[in-house]
Amino acid sequence: MKHSLYYKFILGYLVFGLLGFAAVGTVSDRMMREHLLEEKAEALYDEANLIASSYSGFYSGKKQDLNAAYSQLQAVAEFLRAEIWVVNRQGVVIVESRQSNRSGRVIEGFDPTATGNRSYCVGRYFNQFNYDVLSVSAPITGNYNTYGYVVVHLPIRQIQESSNRALDVVYISTGILFILSLIILLIFTKTVYIPLKKITEGANEYAAGNLDYQIDVKTHDEIGYLAATLNYMSDELNKMEDYQKTFIANVSHDFRSPLTSIKGYLEAILDGTIPPEMYEKYLTRVLSETDRLTKLTQGLLTLNTLDSKGYLSRSNFDINRVIKDTAASFEVICNQKNLTFDLTFSDSIQMVYADLGKIQQVLYNLIDNAIKFSHNDATIYIQTSIRYEKVFISVKDTGIGIPKDSVKKIWERFYKTDLSRGKDKRGTGLGLSIVKEIIQAHGENIDVISTEGVGSEFIFTLPKSTSL
Ligand code: ADP
Repeated sequence: MKHSLYYKFILGYLVFGLLGFAAVGTVSDRMMREHLLEEKAEALYDEANLIASSYSGFYSGKKQDLNAAYSQLQAVAEFLRAEIWVVNRQGVVIVESRQSNRSGRVIEGFDPTATGNRSYCVGRYFNQFNYDVLSVSAPITGNYNTYGYVVVHLPIRQIQESSNRALDVVYISTGILFILSLIILLIFTKTVYIPLKKITEGANEYAAGNLDYQIDVKTHDEIGYLAATLNYMSDELNKMEDYQKTFIANVSHDFRSPLTSIKGYLEAILDGTIPPEMYEKYLTRVLSETDRLTKLTQGLLTLNTLDSKGYLSRSNFDINRVIKDTAASFEVICNQKNLTFDLTFSDSIQMVYADLGKIQQVLYNLIDNAIKFSHNDATIYIQTSIRYEKVFISVKDTGIGIPKDSVKKIWERFYKTDLSRGKDKRGTGLGLSIVKEIIQAHGENIDVISTEGVGSEFIFTLPKSTSL
C-alpha cells in the first residue's frame, strides 16, 4: 500500500506508452497510406494522360508508329513498376505492357464510370487481378470522341511498403521520445522518489521513538533541506529527552536530601535519641529544611510558568525605585554580615517598560546571590546607566567569584559551583535560570563578568520607557 502511488504512476506511464504506440501506429498508418495513395494516383494519372495523348493520334486516324508507342508504354510501365493497359470502350484490352503486343483480354462488366468523381480506384479491377491494385484511368480522346482508356495498375503492396518505410521513422521517433521520458522518470525516481521514501522511513522511525535515526539524504535542494531539518529536529528532541532525564534526576536529588534530614530528625525525636530539651533546635532545622523544599517547589513552578509564552504583563515603572526597595528588603541579613549597598543611578528616575513583578524577582535573585557570596564587611554595587534605547542594570559584588569553567553553566537549572556549595547549603541552583528566562522573555540580554576570588558582576538590559 505504501508504494502504491509510485507503482500506479509507473503502471500508468507504461500503459500510456503502449497506448501511445498503438495510437500513433494506427492513426499514422492510415494517414500515411491515404496520403501516399492520393499522391501516387495523381502521378499515375499524369503518366496515363501522357500515354493517352500519344494513342489518341493513332485512333483519330493520324499515321503513327504503334511499335514505338508500345515500347514507350513498356518503358514507362517498367519505370513506374506498374502495369499499363490500353482498353477500348467495349472493355477489350488492346495493349498490355506485360504482353508482347496485343492482348485481346476482355474485361467482364467493364464500366469506365465506376470510379465516380475520382480518377482512381482500389481493388481487383473487375476481378482482373487476384490481389489489390490501385488503378488509374485516362481517356483516349480525339475529335470529340472517346476511343478508349489508358489504365495504369499499381499493386497496393508497393504503396504499403513505402508507407511502412515512412512509418518506421514515426516508430523510431516515438521510441526515442519514450526512452527520453523514461530517463526523466529515472531521474525523478532518484532525485525525488527515493529521498522522499527515506524521509518517510525517517519520520516513521521518529514516530516509533528512535530519535537517534539519521535520514541519509544529502542533496542541496528542498528535499535535502527537509531531511536536514528533520535530522536537526530529531537531534533537538534527543537533547530535550536527555535534558528532561537530568532535570528529573536533579529535582529528585534536591528533594531527597531535605526529606532525608527531616525524616532523620523526626525519627530521632520519636525514638528518644533527641532529648526534649533539644527539640527546639532540631525542629528549627526541620522548619528550615521545609523552607528549602518550599523554595524549590516555588522555583520550579516559576520556571514552569515562564516556559509557557505570553505571561508578561508589562508596564512603565521607575527601575531605580524598584532597586532601592529590593535592596532595602535585605536589611536584616546585610546588618548581620555588615554589608553596605552602593547605588549609582545616572538619573534620579529611570523609567523602563517591563513586567514589574518579574523584574523584582530578577533583582531579588541577583542581590540575594551577591549577598550570599560576599565576604563580611563588603560593599555591593548596583548601577543603572543608559545607552541608546536601553537601560543597563549592573549588580556587582567583591565576593568569592565564579571559576572560569563554571561561568557558562551557572544559568543551567540546579547548577551550583563547588565553591558555593560550602557557603550556601540552602541554594537551589534555580535562581539564575529563572533570571535568564525572565530577561529573555523580555527580549533582552543578561551577562556575567566574574573572576574567582575577586567578585562577580551581573549586567542586564531593559527597554527604556517610551512614554514619559
Ligand atoms: P542558587 O539559588 O543556588 O544561588 P543560582 O542559580 O542563583 O542558584 O546560582 C547558581 C550558582 O551560580 C550558585 O550556586 C553559585 O555557585 C553561582 N553564583 C551565582 N551568583 C554568584 C555570585 N554573585 N558570586 C559567586 N557565585 C555565584
